[in-house]
Amino acid sequence: MMEKTLVILKPCTLQRALVGEITSRFERKGLRLAGMKMVQLTDEVLSEHYAHLSSKPFFQRVKDSMMACPAIVCCFEGVDAIQVVRTLTGPTNGRLAAPGTIRGDYSMSFQENIVHASDSPEAAEVELKRFFKPEEIFEYEQAVFGFLYANDEY
Ligand code: ADP
Repeated sequence: MMEKTLVILKPCTLQRALVGEITSRFERKGLRLAGMKMVQLTDEVLSEHYAHLSSKPFFQRVKDSMMACPAIVCCFEGVDAIQVVRTLTGPTNGRLAAPGTIRGDYSMSFQENIVHASDSPEAAEVELKRFFKPEEIFEYEQAVFGFLYANDEY
């Protein structure tokens, strides 16, 4: 199914000047960039976004790390994009992530792990609404579309 998913290039990615390289990994895979903007995240939005971690001892530290400097929020689209992006991203702990995954290739940390990626269709829907206005998500045709998929795949 054609899906949209949220990716956040975390402050560590901007600090390490990896924005182009990481964006390129998703682009080269064949995902369509449907939205992208730089934002200074706030404690309020992060408390919502990371509510599932609110009882963890590292909750505030994770939020502080996401506010260390601006982040870049992205919307990528493709067939099964939510799972595809999670697979490209790899598991949370960069030290355990396999080489070839983004976290495996660029991260030495559990926390400073380069990207956030929505983990389910329900999460993607809520998270895209959290970070984007409807008019910031663009529906445009990709000229290469017919070379990305067979016509029974979407
Ligand atoms: P993911 O980002 O892989 O979906 P979670 O939703 O569990 O993982 O956690 C959100 C973010 O919180 C992680 O990406 C990471 O930055 C941080 N985090 C999660 N668990 C830990 C941990 N045990 N130690 C440090 N940071 C953590």
